[in-house]
Amino acid sequence: MKLNGNLLIGAQEVGATAGSMKSLNPATNVEIEPSFAFGGSAEVDRAARLADDAFDSYNNTSLADRAAFLERIADGLDAITPELAQRASLETALPVAQLEAEAAKSATQFRQFATVVRQGRFRQATIDPAQPERQPRPRMDHRSQKIAVGPVAIFGASNFPISYSVAGGDTASALAAGCPVIVKAHNAHPGASELMGRVIQQAVRDSGLHEGVFSLVRGGGNEIGEALVDHPLIKGVTFTGSEGGGMALFRRAQQRPDPIPVFTEMTSVNPTFVLPGALAARGAEIGHGFIERMLVTVGQACLKPAILLAIDGPGYIDLRRAMTAPVEAMQARTMLTPGICAAYRKNVERQRNAGAERIAAGGEPQGAWDGQAVLFEVDGARMLDDPSLSEEVFGPAALLVRVKDVEQLIAIARQFRGQLSATIQLDRVDHPLAANLLPVLERRTGRIVINAFAHPQEVSYASIHGGPFPATSDSRFTSVGMSSIERFLRPVCYQGFPDELLPEALQHDNPRGIWRLTDGQLSLAAIAHDMEIPSPVCECDSI
Ligand code: NAP
Repeated sequence: MKLNGNLLIGAQEVGATAGSMKSLNPATNVEIEPSFAFGGSAEVDRAARLADDAFDSYNNTSLADRAAFLERIADGLDAITPELAQRASLETALPVAQLEAEAAKSATQFRQFATVVRQGRFRQATIDPAQPERQPRPRMDHRSQKIAVGPVAIFGASNFPISYSVAGGDTASALAAGCPVIVKAHNAHPGASELMGRVIQQAVRDSGLHEGVFSLVRGGGNEIGEALVDHPLIKGVTFTGSEGGGMALFRRAQQRPDPIPVFTEMTSVNPTFVLPGALAARGAEIGHGFIERMLVTVGQACLKPAILLAIDGPGYIDLRRAMTAPVEAMQARTMLTPGICAAYRKNVERQRNAGAERIAAGGEPQGAWDGQAVLFEVDGARMLDDPSLSEEVFGPAALLVRVKDVEQLIAIARQFRGQLSATIQLDRVDHPLAANLLPVLERRTGRIVINAFAHPQEVSYASIHGGPFPATSDSRFTSVGMSSIERFLRPVCYQGFPDELLPEALQHDNPRGIWRLTDGQLSLAAIAHDMEIPSPVCECDSI
């Protein structure tokens, strides 16, 4: 597929209106062809108007047609996987094999959401049939379902340039919900973004959908993102990236005349608690496993295990040695962008200035944007004194915390801000301590893992990739897994409707055979005859 660097506004190709850029190969520090167009608020306005025009027809597509559209996107991603992985690798320095796996994950996510759409449960069809005989006053027929919130803006991540980007889980779940999507392409991988954008644009065409269902915009500063968040026709936003960027966009959306939901996923250190029984029995194994996961994608993963806490005692020295050895053996590797590399080096200095001791370091950087692996150690008292030690260092760095006793371990756990995940390494003998730790962690994280590590994230019905602030801006939702569709839905209640005016999901005969909650009972059935709506008008007293 040929890249031409244009913005994709609906079916249209739009050239530069506000400058252009070339992507940088961070491994060689050399720019790559072609030039990629920047747009501005005029292009955002055009994309938002098209998305709004597309909304009614897209939100009302049959479940079968919408599922088929998602599957077309999956097929399109499969067809370009080698090319997509090559381009993304040039732009991010991530290995081709890893990016091929990411592309496969993306295609799988679209297919998983096609299943979610066909099942129709996301509608949460709920029916409280009329009770005309009820005393002291009759009940009118009430039915509710969830519909799409409207056109949404998606800010993709830099660190997973396929599965959290243009064709990532946010786009898949928003399209599954029935929302037209405008993606703000991340400037760290514009070529990969265009390839994925073209696949979705083609799927829109092949599915006979309104062109406004999908657009891809790009800009040279914050202006384009701000214009998206401000646009009155945009009704929701998702974002993956820095806490500063995420919160700037979140606050902006709350200052609109009509505030809209913004779901940001920002920062997490995913603490690992090694309890004494497990430490004594397999300290070395745990330490090695932790560092292995920490170094995945040069430490640039939201689920990177960054902080390990263990109570000093039998096994601690083995654990420590098992952590230092692989760090010392690790060559410096290219980071995603010059900006991320510069931030990494600054944050490593911050850890040192906060009193953490550097106990291991990998090979010195060779390339301009190489990140050197580093392991710090600090004692529990210092950790409690300086909460900055608990902040994210995005890159191949980790912190080992030598904890004095159980009380100190719990006190440190209480000090953590919101996390995407936390891990407990335990043996049976540790269960009483784990029982005390669990309520502390439940309040601070979206996922608790026992005797494994949080990375990689499963994409399934029970998956949760979320957590209290600052892991995300809304702890009630997940950005990964089938229930991530919830971010893009809102409930509507239909009262006293004749059957032919009801949405399909709520009609008497349940024509699509979807799960519904009828008078509190979950079933696939049509509504029992004696529950039929007697009349669109009910003689109800006012409440
Ligand atoms: P970022 O700088 O926050 O950028 C993410 C996206 O949002 C980009 O498209 C960026 O546009 C846009 N953006 C950021 N701030 C904005 C603002 N104030 N107004 C309008 N648009 C804005 O994130 P990044 O470049 O991917 O990575 C930087 C840092 O984020 C990392 O060092 C790391 O700390 C953190 N990070 C965390 C995670 C995680 O999952 N926890 C993932 C990735 C990154 P431009 O492309 O034009 O800058």
